[in-house]
Amino acid sequence: MPRTISHWINGRLHPAAGARQPVFNPATGEIAAEVGLATEADVDLAVAGAKAAQPAWAATPPLIRARVMFKFRDLLDQQSQRLAAQITEEHGKVLSDALGEVTRGMEVVEFACGIPSLLKGEATAEVGRGIDSFAIRQPLGVVAGITPFNFPAMVPLWMLPVALACGNAFILKPSEKDPSASVILAELLQQSGLPDGVFQVVQGDRIAVERLLAHPDIDAISFVGSTPIAEHIYRTGTAHGKRVQALGGAKNHLIVMPDADLEQAADALMGAGYGSAGERCMAVSVAVAVGPIADPLVERLAPRVRGLKVGPGTDRDADMGPLISQQHRDKVAGYIDAGVAAGAELVVDGRGLSLQGYEGGYYLGGTLFDRVTPEMSIYREEIFGPVLSVVRVPDFETALGLVNDHEFGNGTSIFTRDGDAARDFVQRCRIGMVGVNVPIPVPMAFHSFGGWKRSLFGDHHMHGPEGVRFYTRLKTVTERWPTGIRAGAQFVMPTMG
Ligand code: NAD
Repeated sequence: MPRTISHWINGRLHPAAGARQPVFNPATGEIAAEVGLATEADVDLAVAGAKAAQPAWAATPPLIRARVMFKFRDLLDQQSQRLAAQITEEHGKVLSDALGEVTRGMEVVEFACGIPSLLKGEATAEVGRGIDSFAIRQPLGVVAGITPFNFPAMVPLWMLPVALACGNAFILKPSEKDPSASVILAELLQQSGLPDGVFQVVQGDRIAVERLLAHPDIDAISFVGSTPIAEHIYRTGTAHGKRVQALGGAKNHLIVMPDADLEQAADALMGAGYGSAGERCMAVSVAVAVGPIADPLVERLAPRVRGLKVGPGTDRDADMGPLISQQHRDKVAGYIDAGVAAGAELVVDGRGLSLQGYEGGYYLGGTLFDRVTPEMSIYREEIFGPVLSVVRVPDFETALGLVNDHEFGNGTSIFTRDGDAARDFVQRCRIGMVGVNVPIPVPMAFHSFGGWKRSLFGDHHMHGPEGVRFYTRLKTVTERWPTGIRAGAQFVMPTMG
């Protein structure tokens, strides 16, 4: 009998009574566990517990809330190997990459440890005679996070440390494809001293999500996942009067200018294109080669792509592991078929890879296309696999136009030695996160993460200052303490004249 991954409600595992579905080990194709799928009643129970626990947590001084975060940070550090091993088992990414994800998540906890400073408001003395005004930020109440499969620890950690430190209760609905990390996070939060009910996990699929979106006691929704679902979450959540931030898919371009350091650019494209088998929202999937650099760039990339070592995530020599599922592997292979049919030049073909001893795993080799054009589906759509497309353009303006005309606007990068071109690119690109000679410009925890265009629905990016704003609402107070003065009723708009 495979183990069952349950919900975490009111400080303990809550048995999954309803339907279940298998969780696979993508390296072998075997069933690793089963996950319970929450019913509406399970969601309601979690929300009721969170609603009951939140007021006392909100009334807890930020300094005490921060101390819980300090403890949580230490426990995450101590348990990072266990967490990473669990991620590798269910997601498939190589262990070193899983550890990197835990570290990037832990950095958001470190940011949240500063919540007493981050919640400091503004004050003005004497806005009128004897009148002072101050503004404070207060928690929203019960908030929910719905997260994707590709970062089962880091993406929840983009949200929950900030939400909790601000004084909210948080309900996590992780991806049903790799749900175990969520329960480890719940255990560690409890060991850190977080009161029961303030952090809940409901496992599940669409049914759980729809209930969260409609539930009258959920005040805000944070979502990360694919664009069609992000748009649905935004529309439905806001229609129910909730604050929503919904981060979607991406198609990130890396511009290689003719004066770029070729070796650096080729290395950057390898790591950003094929790391985590391309299953990153900040993966670079398009290399835009400007002018004469295209031939030497492809010459440098091809042997590197052929030399990629694909293996189970537990193999310390592997550069990348399997894809998340059989269905997704077939979908990515289908994109390679479509690219060939559309006339792109297939320089390295990753289809048909089989690993001895791991024949049931969902592997696909690194794939490189050259002479890709903007009307091809491999250019327009997010593939989310180890497939890099080279697009050749004559000049900088055409490269910039490609970036700006694409429906997605998550990340981009330019490789050049020319500061003028780089500055121009930074100023004029319509993208949320931009790198200059940096391939994956993921902002650090104390900055904020988010894209533009159809990569983000809503007003706020995640973590950093934007996260604090998202998880709090502003209250502005104007006060005076008059003694013995009676001005009588005033019927005009008060002014300072
Ligand atoms: P997904 O959209 O399939 O699933 C995300 C979450 O939504 C999961 O929790 C899932 O259970 C839920 N969900 C799925 N279908 C639903 C439906 N019909 N109704 C309600 N809920 C539903 O995404 P995924 O495949 O898990 O993750 C990969 C996607 O996430 C990629 O598109 C990637 O670019 C994106 N992503 C974006 C960012 C970012 O910061 N912009 C970060 C990571 C991943």
